[in-house]
Amino acid sequence: MAISVEHLRRQYGSFTAVDDMSFEVGGGEIVGLIGPNGAGKTTTLRSLAGILRPTAGHVRIDGYDIVEHAIEAKRRLAFMPDEPHLFEYLTVLEHLRLTARLYAVHDIDHRAKVLLDELELSGKEHALPGELSRGMRQKVVIACGLVREATALLFDEPLTGLDPIGIRKMRETIVARGRAGAAILLSSHLLHLVEEICTRIIIMDGGRIVADGTFAELAAHLEIAAAGSSLEQIFMRVTGRETSAR
Ligand code: ATP
Repeated sequence: MAISVEHLRRQYGSFTAVDDMSFEVGGGEIVGLIGPNGAGKTTTLRSLAGILRPTAGHVRIDGYDIVEHAIEAKRRLAFMPDEPHLFEYLTVLEHLRLTARLYAVHDIDHRAKVLLDELELSGKEHALPGELSRGMRQKVVIACGLVREATALLFDEPLTGLDPIGIRKMRETIVARGRAGAAILLSSHLLHLVEEICTRIIIMDGGRIVADGTFAELAAHLEIAAAGSSLEQIFMRVTGRETSAR
């Protein structure tokens, strides 16, 4: 399995931010990770990426444990964080070339051109981060993640700061990577987008999974008609926010 999470727990001191999470994401699946602020989405993604060490449980990428076989696991995953941190003195193209060297990606100039076209960053190849808008910096972070062919793609809020055209393009990019066989886990508060592109949805609340299934399965479980309902309705119901939202 491309991404396998078993009884993951992550504490910050004595506070448990993520508790007993188990799920899998297979190649070609696009799984949406949603939940209220503080639910534990970023903590989950950072634990999967090997940035935070699990307090308990296991994360495996293509069968490689993220703690015991960190290099093998990390070689197969790309994590795209929501905060676009870049190297101040490297241009856009230099970021891609550096990533390519670190991950032994061949044919970087061709790949970089295709990717920069795809993400509408053409013309910004030689710009430094300080000369880019926030949305553009976000795209550079994503370009660094996509420039190598990772088995598992982890996106934390990939659409924050993007304009409507950027959102549409990023949606197409994510769907295309899924079709090409990547296992994708993405967190987002844009529920209509999650509903549209995700093949499965995991809802978290209070550090735990409170629902996991396709949109139709979640609707059926809650006994609401999938046809006329929205993911927002399901979200409100599952997280118990239904009445306060009205
Ligand atoms: P959001 O939708 O606001 O991005 P989230 O679902 O990504 O939220 P997390 O960032 O994973 O939530 O945070 C989960 C919980 O862990 C929150 O209660 C948060 O305050 C706490 N937390 C996160 N990082 C730390 C930290 N470094 N130290 C202590 N507590 C933390």
